[in-house]
Amino acid sequence: MKSAPLPWPRTQTESEAVEYARENDLFDGGVLQKIIGLSRVRAWEIVGGLSRPSKMPCYAWGIPAQTCITGSKLAQVEGSVCQSCYALKGYFRTHRVQRAYQRRLDRSTDLRWVEAMIKLVYWQTAETGVPYFRWFDSGDLQSVEMLRTICAVAVDTPEIKHWLPTREHRIVEAYLEDETLPSNLVVRVSAALIDGQPAHTLGLPTSTVHSSTPPAGSIVCAARHREPVACGECRACWSKEAETVSYPLH
Ligand code: SF4
Repeated sequence: MKSAPLPWPRTQTESEAVEYARENDLFDGGVLQKIIGLSRVRAWEIVGGLSRPSKMPCYAWGIPAQTCITGSKLAQVEGSVCQSCYALKGYFRTHRVQRAYQRRLDRSTDLRWVEAMIKLVYWQTAETGVPYFRWFDSGDLQSVEMLRTICAVAVDTPEIKHWLPTREHRIVEAYLEDETLPSNLVVRVSAALIDGQPAHTLGLPTSTVHSSTPPAGSIVCAARHREPVACGECRACWSKEAETVSYPLH
């Protein structure tokens, strides 16, 4: 990642700052955030907003589940977790929600996306009082570049714990060939099949879905035992110590 030549000019307006960053190829590495102070409203507009999953203690960012590269193939497979994906049903299928997730995907390549996300991650922490953030409440990684930009957000929000569940083994593997994951980001590799074994191949934390018996040694998600359904005080999904989290099939 590039570093800004110091001292960088104290530009007065956002458009001047963007112009300066563009001329000096400074959009990587959260540099732009240090040049300009995006307002929360402007950051929300650039990102296309966040979602607020009722079960979670924090906000989340996601994209349409229909764009899942591996998941859309798995959705055709009997007994796969994706066949009964919650993000392909009910509330998630409403026009308004679909449009919002599509907007977030469309805007994820905006040159100011990393800086805007940093702003929103801090804003949502102030709003909820919880220093956690969830990636992909719907959808999954689309490319190594997308993972790289998410890592850039995590690097520049070191006080926040990030959790990113994924079935895109190949994208994560390709990323890990040359780069490392930030210490505050847990990429949790999800099993493909209901009652499947944890996918430990990448050496990352994993998750499974079980119909009756969870894999030995896994932490069983108890969110559905709470009323209303919620994480409560549990933060296992964000913890590297939780090697495998297993979700009861519902
Ligand atoms: S395991 Fe814990 S943190 Fe993860 S979804 Fe369940 S209740 Fe929430």
